[in-house]
Amino acid sequence: MADEKENINSDEVSKDKNIVNNKVEDKDILSNKAHEEDKDDEDDYEKICYMCRRSESKAGKMISMPNNINICSDCMQRTFDTLNSGDINYEEMLKLSNLPGAKGLTPINLDNFNFDNINLEIPKKQRLKKKSTEEKRVLDPIDIKKIPAPHEIKRQLDEYVIGQEHAKKIMSVAVYNHYKRVASNTNTMEEIEIEKSNMLMIGPTGSGKTYLVKILAKLLDVPLAITDATSLTEAGYIGDDIESVVSKLLAAAGNDVEKAERGIIFVDEIDKIAKKKETRSRDVSGESVQQGMLKLLEGSEVEVPVGSNSKNAMVPLTTVNTKNILFICGGAFPELEDVIKERINKQSSIGFAADLKDKHDKDINILSQVTLEDLKIFGMIPEFLGRLPIVFTLQGLTKEMLVEVMKEPKNAILKQYQKLLELDEVNLIFDDSALEAIAEKAIAKKTGARAIRSIIEEFMLDIMYEIPKDNNIGKVTITGDYINKKGGPIIELRGM
Ligand code: ADP
Repeated sequence: MADEKENINSDEVSKDKNIVNNKVEDKDILSNKAHEEDKDDEDDYEKICYMCRRSESKAGKMISMPNNINICSDCMQRTFDTLNSGDINYEEMLKLSNLPGAKGLTPINLDNFNFDNINLEIPKKQRLKKKSTEEKRVLDPIDIKKIPAPHEIKRQLDEYVIGQEHAKKIMSVAVYNHYKRVASNTNTMEEIEIEKSNMLMIGPTGSGKTYLVKILAKLLDVPLAITDATSLTEAGYIGDDIESVVSKLLAAAGNDVEKAERGIIFVDEIDKIAKKKETRSRDVSGESVQQGMLKLLEGSEVEVPVGSNSKNAMVPLTTVNTKNILFICGGAFPELEDVIKERINKQSSIGFAADLKDKHDKDINILSQVTLEDLKIFGMIPEFLGRLPIVFTLQGLTKEMLVEVMKEPKNAILKQYQKLLELDEVNLIFDDSALEAIAEKAIAKKTGARAIRSIIEEFMLDIMYEIPKDNNIGKVTITGDYINKKGGPIIELRGM
């Protein structure tokens, strides 16, 4: 297992090498102006010790050498110490290739070595933005008055997300409180510590969980990292370390630690790390990942690799404090409905049980009755749930809602196609029967609104291909019959 991990690491190293090589080629193409811009940029980044890969803020002042190499004073001192102790012998080094393990290698001949072709620059994605100082503050402290009020946040969410009124309201208030907390932490020393507003969203696939988080991050203008809980494992196992979620956020914030520290991390498929019902072997992907996430959720200083998902000798590390990072976990929790139904049925009096059972079986919004106890039975550990104080559910999208998703949001898919055809001066109409037919097809696929795009794209391909052939076409109407392959679209010519 350790070997595999090493392989992954060496893959990453070789990827980085490619980046370095590409950089060499890019350099030739770049104009002088770009060079100058690069120089300005350089000042915003911390120097990184070429030997120990620590950044300037950790290792102290660096000694700069040609080819963008910086060495920290510790490493410089260590090098001198080694040289002084006489441990290194150049002749001995050349003989290394005669060792049994290195058969067939020729001794290195430094005379033929061209040092000009070596670019030892540290890849840009691994470089850290300098922290702001008092005099030069890169990031303004959050101004409480500038955080949009909950109703304003919800209004903006309404422009994009159909339904989910309850979820939008809860999120707007939670996000507002969270950033108020961040602002009060940075501005004043509050005696009352406001609790973190980490959230747990429960809702079927394609009901808008990821979409809501994306829009929130955009309207608040904070960096966002989206990860899948299934890819996370305890440190030391194959997969991404739990801290990699913070690395991703750092990358989304352009390696600016301060910006990342007020970002949002969305962990999808959180139900997949539920505790296994029976565990004979060690549960590396479920319970221990929940355990591993506790300190991140609560807020702690974590050491994360810059520009990579895993820690290795070639990657610089930095410290990120997760205290002000908003964590939102989401999942479909497929078997949770059964847990809730079972609880409700047990609670109801025996005589009516049969009736009620029938009623609950048909209730599509049974998820909204979830309690913490249900989630524990499902396999989420109490400590984990304790760090996600805001729990809410999203509705599965109904046929009517799917129709709205197609035409109402600001960037609705129908509006996008209409705009495209407008450029060809063609009027594209979807009649009601068409919208219903698409919604029915989407419901059959059981992936919520996710299915819509692929269904529409499938039949729009022919339309987008055929229409530009004939300049006389002025209007195209898509009907339910066309969607159900029982007829063609209604084509009308210009001037009719
Ligand atoms: P999930 O709940 O599985 O995370 P997503 O948020 O990824 O689902 O939804 C997939 C896509 O479906 C989104 O990109 C969005 O375009 C559309 N969508 C889903 N739910 C809604 C909704 N309630 N309103 C508008 N669009 C939606």
